[in-house]
Amino acid sequence: MAKQLLIVGCGHAHLTVLLRLADFTGKGYRVTVVSPDSHHYYSGMGPGVLSGIYQVRQIRFHVRKMAEQRGAAFLEGRAVRIDPGGKSILLDTGREVDYDIVSFNTGSGIPLDALAASSERIIPVKPILNLYAARLRIEEGLRERDLKLTVVGGGPAGVEIAANVWRLAHGTPHRAEITLLGGSKVLGKAPEQARNRALLSLGKRGVRVLEGKDARALQVAEREILLQNGNAVLHDLAFMALGVKPSAIFAGSGLPTGSDGGLLVDSFLRSTAHPAIFGGGDCISLAGNPLDKVGVYAVRQNPVLYHNLMAALEGSEPVRFDPGGSYLQILNMGNGTGILWKNSFVWDGRAAFLLKDFIDRRFMRKFQVSGELSEPDGESS
Ligand SMILES: Cc1cc2nc3c(=O)[nH]c(=O)nc-3n(C[C@H](O)[C@H](O)[C@H](O)COP(=O)(O)OP(=O)(O)OC[C@H]3O[C@@H](n4cnc5c(N)ncnc54)[C@H](O)[C@@H]3O)c2cc1C
Repeated sequence: MAKQLLIVGCGHAHLTVLLRLADFTGKGYRVTVVSPDSHHYYSGMGPGVLSGIYQVRQIRFHVRKMAEQRGAAFLEGRAVRIDPGGKSILLDTGREVDYDIVSFNTGSGIPLDALAASSERIIPVKPILNLYAARLRIEEGLRERDLKLTVVGGGPAGVEIAANVWRLAHGTPHRAEITLLGGSKVLGKAPEQARNRALLSLGKRGVRVLEGKDARALQVAEREILLQNGNAVLHDLAFMALGVKPSAIFAGSGLPTGSDGGLLVDSFLRSTAHPAIFGGGDCISLAGNPLDKVGVYAVRQNPVLYHNLMAALEGSEPVRFDPGGSYLQILNMGNGTGILWKNSFVWDGRAAFLLKDFIDRRFMRKFQVSGELSEPDGESS
């Protein structure tokens, strides 16, 4: 029987493999693709969907069509367990799927843990489709009354969400009171100049920013957030942008993981314990060099995963993943401007946003090969 390649999760690191699946099926390999959704959503343009700069169809890839049109089988479901000895995975649908070679790109989620109540008013910023649902709710709410909208988390995602909530609420019949709870320091890992420009940009638009030890959220309840200093911030909706944690299936299956729970891989993006298991994106931890959880690395891993999955099937030599040097970050500030930085270089203004928009749209064009732009917005079909 022909060898079986199993692709689990259709995240940013798997897009080249998906685009070139015909290279695998053309050689006679059986390929199965597993994803909980027919689409994968590009996070870099997610805040722009929240504000309405982009429509949903502009930021997603129809991964089911990508797979099926290239001769692969597509299974809708979520991997919940891996059996590396028996070379199979278990899906939440109860189905078991065998593999000869498997690759995981199952991403990460927002760890709400003990901090937040489970409530429709509390919105994790991943999965990215949550941002579209939030946009519809805020638009509807602001037609009827004023809203208090809070963003918890002062990293790049939190800043972009606060800035794009401002855009969404700007010029509506009612007022939005927007608060960013930035934790110890807003954009604490960015150059000071980038941080200052972000604070200035948000401040000028009336976004209230709280940061420092006392402004840390202790408990996020349905209608209010209790801070470390004893104060409470009321909200109608609270976005949770607290940083991400890799999907839990690896630790749960007894595979070696990094300290963050990501699948521990070597420089070939291969499990340090099981040579038939590969992975990329936010769900892995690179041994000796854990990487930031940013899409940039997932994108850089694309050609390596393509090459190494083929090499593993063919019995040829794999190539090493080189994470490369520092990476460019550009924030979409929601008012037509961006803040860009790389190392200590900082630049902001309209051109910075246009550059981000150009890079993002170019990335989308490369992998939107299944008629996505003519689909209606909304849930997956
Ligand atoms: C609001 C926001 C904005 C961001 N902007 C940027 C940016 O501009 N630039 C940047 O570099 N980074 C950005 N990031 C970080 C970026 O989101 C992540 O680094 C990136 O999404 C990682 O890609 P991924 O494909 O590994 O994971 P994900 O994007 O999380 O994709 C994982 C995929 O796997 C699927 N999946 C999940 N669990 C399972 C399972 N058990 N079985 C099967 N499939 C599964 C999911 O449905 C999803 O399609 C942003 C993050 C957020 C939250």
